[in-house]
Amino acid sequence: MNIASSSEKYKVLVENAVVGIYIICENRFTYVNSRLAEIFAYSCDEMLEMSPLELTHKEDRGIVEKNIKKRLKNDIENIEYSFRALRKDGEIRNLHVYGTISIIDGKKAIMGTIIDETDKKLATSRLEYLANYDSLTGLYNRYYFNMQSEHIMNQARRNENKIAILLFDIDNFKRINDSLGHKAGDVVLVRTAELVSEVLRDSDSFYRIGGDEFTVIMENFNSTNEVKILVKRIQQALRTSIEVDEFSFHISLSIGVSIYPEHGEDMSALQKSADVAMYQAKKDGKNCFSIFAKDSGSSSKILELEDELYEGLERGEMEIYLQPQIDLKTDYLLGAEALVRWNNPKRGVLAPAVFLPLAKEMGLLYKLDLIMIENVFLLLERYEKLDMLDFTISVNISHALFHHQRFFSIMQKFHHRYTYLCNYMVLELTEDILMVDNAHAIKITKSLKLIGYRLAIDDFGTGYSSFGHLKMMPIHELKIDRGFIRDIAHESKDKAIVKAIVDMGHTLDLTVVAEGAEDREQVKLLKEMNCDVVQGYFYSKPVTVEDFQNRWLV
Ligand code: C2E
Ligand code: CA
Ligand code: CA
Repeated sequence: MNIASSSEKYKVLVENAVVGIYIICENRFTYVNSRLAEIFAYSCDEMLEMSPLELTHKEDRGIVEKNIKKRLKNDIENIEYSFRALRKDGEIRNLHVYGTISIIDGKKAIMGTIIDETDKKLATSRLEYLANYDSLTGLYNRYYFNMQSEHIMNQARRNENKIAILLFDIDNFKRINDSLGHKAGDVVLVRTAELVSEVLRDSDSFYRIGGDEFTVIMENFNSTNEVKILVKRIQQALRTSIEVDEFSFHISLSIGVSIYPEHGEDMSALQKSADVAMYQAKKDGKNCFSIFAKDSGSSSKILELEDELYEGLERGEMEIYLQPQIDLKTDYLLGAEALVRWNNPKRGVLAPAVFLPLAKEMGLLYKLDLIMIENVFLLLERYEKLDMLDFTISVNISHALFHHQRFFSIMQKFHHRYTYLCNYMVLELTEDILMVDNAHAIKITKSLKLIGYRLAIDDFGTGYSSFGHLKMMPIHELKIDRGFIRDIAHESKDKAIVKAIVDMGHTLDLTVVAEGAEDREQVKLLKEMNCDVVQGYFYSKPVTVEDFQNRWLV
C-alpha cells in the first residue's frame, strides 16, 4: 500500500468529513477541519490557536474544562459529552463531542469529533411539544391530560387531598363555526383559552381535550365553595366581547364539576361524573354550571336515553305544546308556537333542552321536526274543520332540516296535501341557518313564501345578520330573542336595542314579536315601543293542546 497516497486519502477524508474534527494540544486547537469551523462560524485559520473555552457558552465552561482535564490528567482514553457552544455570530448551538487521547510530537493531545445536535434537539423538543400541547391554544392536550391526570390522582390518593375536575365547552360553538367559519371558531377557542388562563391559579392545570371541550384540574383546595368561586371567576372572565373581523360577540360556557373522592374513586369515574354534570348544566340552560349529584344520573343513563329516543320517535311520543302569541294592540290571540315535549313513558314529560342536543348528535333532529310539522298540519286541519282557524301556528326548523337536501321538496309535498293551510304555518328559522349559505337560503325561503308558508326569524339579535341581509330575506316576522327582553325594565341598553329592532322591523314591513315577557312592566314597555306581538310566561307558558284550546279557543 502506498503510504503517501494513503495519508493523502485520510487527509481528504478528514477535510471533507461531515462531522467536525479537531486536535487540541496545550489547550489550543492545533487542527480543525472545515466542518468544525463551519459549526463555530469561524474560518479554519481563525480557530487555530483559539482555546476551546473561548468557544463555550459560559454556563457550560465548567463541564468542558472538567472533561478536558479528566482526559489529560487521569488518562481516560475515550470520553464523550454534550455542551453548548458560542458561535462567532453569538448563536448558541448544542454540540456533542467525542475525544480520545493521543501523543503528538511528544505532547499529550486530544483528537476527536464534534456533532452539531441543535436541529435534532429542536426537532425532539418540537415533537415533545406537539405530543403534549395543543398547537392552536398552546394548552396541554388530551394526551397530556391522560398522563398527568393519573399522576395527580395518585398524588391526591397518597396525600389524601381533594381534586376537582371542571369540564366545560362553549355554548353554541357549532353555531359560531357554522355561521362565521372555522377561522372565527379558532379565534374563539384561543380567546377562551386566554381568558380562562388569566383567572386560574398556579396550581390549576388547564387542558384542551378536544373540539371546544376544555378541562381544568384543580388541586389545593379545602371546600367545595372554593371550587364554586373559581367556576364563577371563569364565567366572569368570559363576560367580555370577542372580536372576529368586524363582528363582536359574547360567549358563555356550560361547566360540569366533579370532586375526588366524593364523585369518583379514579380518574375515569371522575371524568364521567364531570361529563354528566356538564350535561346537567346544559339542561339547566346555557351559561350554567353544575356540580355532580349522584341522583342527576350516570352516563349510562344518557346511553339509555339514546335508545329510548329512537323508539320514542317511532312510537309517537313527541307531543306538541303550544304557547300563545298575543297581539299587543288588541290583546287577542294571533298565533301560537309549537314547542316539542317528549312524553317519555318512564321519565314523564321532558323539555327540549334534555333531548334536542341528543337528537342532533344522533342525526334525528330533522325527523323530529318533520313529525312536528306533520302534527301541526293535522292540528290546523282540525281547527279549520271546527271553523276555529283564525290564528297561525309556528314550528321550529332546525339547521339539519333546513339544509337537508330534500327540504324544499318535502315542504312542497305538505303543500300539495294541505294547500292553503300553509298560510297558517310560520316556519321559524334562526339567523345563522340563513347565513350558512346565504344565496341558497334566499332561494329556498323565496320558494317557500311563494307556495304560501310564512317565515319568521327566531332568536333575532343573537346571530350576526345585518340589516342588509334582512332586506333580502322574504320573511314576515322577526322574533326578538328572550335575552333582550329579560332586563328591558332595568337595562337601558337592552331597552334601546329592542326599540331599534322594533323600528327596523317596521321599516321592513315585518311583524315584530317579543319573546319571553314575564311581567306586566315588560309588556307595558313593549306596548310603548310599538312592538306588535308578545309571547311569554306573562300570558302563558307552553301548554298541552287540550289546555290551549280550553284557555284560548273558547
Ligand atoms: P325557542 O324557539 O326560542 O322557543 C322559546 C322558548 O322560550 C321555549 O322554551 C319557551 O318555553 C321559552 N319561553 C317562552 N316564554 C318565556 C318566558 O317568558 N320566560 C322564560 N324563561 N322562557 C320562556 P322550550 O319550549 O324549552 O324550547 C326551547 C328551545 O328548543 C326552543 O327555543 C327551540 O329552539 C327548541 N325547540 C323546541 N321545540 C322544537 C322543535 O319542535 N324543533 C326544533 N328544531 N327545535 C325546537
Ligand atoms: Ca322558536
Ligand atoms: Ca326564540
